Amino acid sequence: MPELPEVETIKNELSPWVVGQHFNQVNVLDGRLIYQLPVPEFCRRLTGQAIESISRRGKYLIFQLSVAQYLVVHLRMSGALLLNPDKIDPYARASFTFSNGTHLVLNDQRRLGIVWLVENIEPVVGKLGPEPLEDNFTAAVLSQRLSKHHIPIKVALIDQSLIAGIGNMYADEILFAARMHPLRTTDSLSPEEIQHIHNSIRRILRSAIARKGASTDTYVRPGGQLGTAHFDFKVAHRKGKPCPVCGVSVERISLQNRGTYFCPNCQP
Ligand SMILES: [Zn+2]
Repeated sequence: MPELPEVETIKNELSPWVVGQHFNQVNVLDGRLIYQLPVPEFCRRLTGQAIESISRRGKYLIFQLSVAQYLVVHLRMSGALLLNPDKIDPYARASFTFSNGTHLVLNDQRRLGIVWLVENIEPVVGKLGPEPLEDNFTAAVLSQRLSKHHIPIKVALIDQSLIAGIGNMYADEILFAARMHPLRTTDSLSPEEIQHIHNSIRRILRSAIARKGASTDTYVRPGGQLGTAHFDFKVAHRKGKPCPVCGVSVERISLQNRGTYFCPNCQP
């Protein structure tokens, strides 16, 4: 699933192609993609509008449009936005043609992605927690948010209302970097441990953005290239392989029906 580093990469790499461009053609192949708006209405409203800017909030891509509206995209499990693909993918759910001739296709194997066209983004992204890479996300802010809950730290890290943008694979990498067992409860953490987690969140996410995201599953960059962040993974998706620090086998447990990977020796 695209997480903060993947969505940030998509934003960065789409921007030069589509910011300032108008939607010339809007083609929706799967109406369930569009949230609470009939497809003809969606196409009519979007056609002719220009993209003023693209931003990211958590795992959401937000296209600010010329007439005070926003196109918001959540790629969920398997969505991908591809620039000028060579062939039409059987999993294509929508395509857009811009005034400069750029063709943008939304592919989505599992068909869980959602697109909103709204005047106000608050109902879509208003409940998200702070952005972990912004200056105002301090260790004190993290501490204050974690201490209110009695839940495993892994569950807290992927709760979008506590912190925005972290998903399953980066949470595992963050906890490995912080040398912390994923089941430690949030209200048991010392100030030093919270500082370690805070440092690890920033370091792991920044490094993954520099590596253009992780292509462990269906994620591809808009130009079709793979990300390389997964080559740095120490535990995520590495069950049974030796921990790169101590050599002990990486374990996998199930937490909220998702695989959680950790080193039992480095993360006691
Ligand atoms: Zn280890």
